[in-house]
Amino acid sequence: MFDLIFPTYCLNCGRSGEYLCTECQKKLERSIPECYICRRISNRYVTHDQCNYYGINSLFVGWRYNTVARKIISQFKYKYSYSLAEIISELFIKRIKETGFVNQMDKGSLLIPMPIHKKHFLDRGFNQSLLIAENIAKEFSLQIINDVLYRTGSSKYQAKSTVEERRNLKDIFYLKKELLNKNIIILDDVITTGATINNAAKLLKGNNIKVLTLFRGKPRYLQ
Ligand SMILES: [Zn+2]
Ligand SMILES: [Zn+2]
Repeated sequence: MFDLIFPTYCLNCGRSGEYLCTECQKKLERSIPECYICRRISNRYVTHDQCNYYGINSLFVGWRYNTVARKIISQFKYKYSYSLAEIISELFIKRIKETGFVNQMDKGSLLIPMPIHKKHFLDRGFNQSLLIAENIAKEFSLQIINDVLYRTGSSKYQAKSTVEERRNLKDIFYLKKELLNKNIIILDDVITTGATINNAAKLLKGNNIKVLTLFRGKPRYLQ
């Protein structure tokens, strides 16, 4: 009934029925376990000791940032696609399980969705990471903490910026409350150089930090 009023189309191929049809879901390319700093293969997505400057002990990436990924992210940013977030959450949870990364996600860990700028939140009306975080927290028995890490700095839309511009964006984070000796999992949608996530992690020093990311581009040596 609802579909008649609001028909749903696949964001990639335009087929009607789902926001991301099963054929296009297959176009998401699985990433391989690597150290997020040097980007060499690393078992269980663990950051090598010699690479671990910021205290992020492991960083899980769901898929490569390819054309389909880019379309998903732009829908997140500009449309209010709750159903798309549901589909992506479901696929992401599957990835976390099949790769075994689930074993690194201790029950009761604090899950921090990467905050967005307040201005963007007001424009969009929601934080897409928070929607996905809710599904992940439920699945893996984590506790969402959404009022600790805040973000200020540039108010540019990240989706509109080129990779180069994004690198130059100054992300300033601040903590509202001190956290110490906690198991923390930060959730972000896309990471590029990792500079943003490193800035956030610096504030959370003294905790066991892991990161979940939906998408990341191929490492340079594979391009
Ligand atoms: Zn499709
Ligand atoms: Zn490394």
